Amino acid sequence: MSLTASQSLFARSQLATPGGVNSPVRAFGSVGGTPSFIADAKGPYVRDVDGRIYVDLVGTWGPALLGHAHPEVVATVTEAAARGLSFGAPTAAEAELAEAVTARVPAAEQVRLVSTGTEATMTAIRLARGVTGRDLLVKFAGCYHGHSDSLLAQAGSGVATQGLPGSAGVPADIAALTIVLPYNDEDALRECFAEHGRDIAAVITEACPANMGIVPPAPGFNRAIREVTRDHGALMITDEVLTGFRVSPAGFWGLETGWRPARLPAVLPSDLVGAEAMLEARQEWCRGQVGDLDYVPDLFTFGKVIGGGMPLAALGGSAEIMGHLAPLGPVYQAGTLSGNPLATAAGLATLKLADDACYARVDAVAQSIRTYLSATLSAHDIPHVINSAGSLFSVFFGEEVAESGVSSYADAQRQDEDLYRAFFHAMRDAGVALPPSCYEAWFVSRAHDDDAVAAIFTAIDTAVAEVAQT
Ligand code: PMP
Repeated sequence: MSLTASQSLFARSQLATPGGVNSPVRAFGSVGGTPSFIADAKGPYVRDVDGRIYVDLVGTWGPALLGHAHPEVVATVTEAAARGLSFGAPTAAEAELAEAVTARVPAAEQVRLVSTGTEATMTAIRLARGVTGRDLLVKFAGCYHGHSDSLLAQAGSGVATQGLPGSAGVPADIAALTIVLPYNDEDALRECFAEHGRDIAAVITEACPANMGIVPPAPGFNRAIREVTRDHGALMITDEVLTGFRVSPAGFWGLETGWRPARLPAVLPSDLVGAEAMLEARQEWCRGQVGDLDYVPDLFTFGKVIGGGMPLAALGGSAEIMGHLAPLGPVYQAGTLSGNPLATAAGLATLKLADDACYARVDAVAQSIRTYLSATLSAHDIPHVINSAGSLFSVFFGEEVAESGVSSYADAQRQDEDLYRAFFHAMRDAGVALPPSCYEAWFVSRAHDDDAVAAIFTAIDTAVAEVAQT
């Protein structure tokens, strides 16, 4: 039997690179089979090198909020490319993008641009340690914050997919500085702080966990993190790499607190002269925006949508905290490609197009898919639970999870992974690309039009009927 083009490329890639991929979950390790090698992607569709077209619900793991290759984004990036690929010197677009972030999330009074979510969270932790002079870090089981040493303990995403407790190669002394708590367990959080509070630099949490499937915070859980950290002089780092600018204009924090973006005063009062006065005016505006909200984290991290598919991520917080970063302060962080002109162009173009109509559309599309999927599964007596956060959602199969719900990593691990595997392949055969792991979120885009949604429904009919027989 002759190989498909994807199979042949996978064989070649496995010789060239470990596991044939440059990021583990792409290898289909937990679902089995050969990953599709992609030729191109447009709107809601991806086409593989064998010419098969799939309705895409992976969305390049989050960035493709507008769909693939949005013409305006591509044109903006192409124009930027013609002006130069990288300068290693500041550009206007970096300030503009930082301002766009501040306007959407005013607690991020100042923003530092980096290239990946991993860098953003790694820097946020170093900053928290530098500011507090403490070493311990608290994270939650099942949350994924990138692959830096401190953050892989009981992590979500590919670490969960492979069923790993963490990563080899992390020195024990570094791993010992990370305390892992069960998600949504306020008592465990308070007990941990009662015992170690004076040594904890920060709690890092996904704004809404999306890397063990979607596991929303219980009402008040994020506020409890805020209270406990504040009471003990630790920082709260809210990781919105995945949820930021995707589940609402101001991310999951915006969704939960009800904050709606305002226009950042572009021109500061003309009678204010000097950097200090201008910064004070900026801070006053920012603090005025968030003062009454339920909770305001100290640091946010962003990625994915903010770069519109190009390598770009960011961290942001109050000017006091951010001022500890070099060159102003002693916490070092740098990047040859940080604030890259192509990436900032893609990010700015994407955020401009991520308007209210965009969020309304992705919410409606996600809602209709969730409803259809759940009804079809129920009609075939397949026990399941679907968790969601804005337009993000994921399905967990199995009687146990259907009964108890999924509100922690331990719950998520009780799902029926074999059923997801079968469902994943049946959907793929029916022309829909799902995430190749039951620990990942499903991503819809602004480009998922009625035809794409209809194709998803048809695939659901076929796939559910098929797995119901097994
Ligand atoms: N934080 C969260 C919440 C993420 O979902 C991810 C990536 N899935 C990261 C951090 C790491 O981002 P990157 O892959 O760009 O390093």
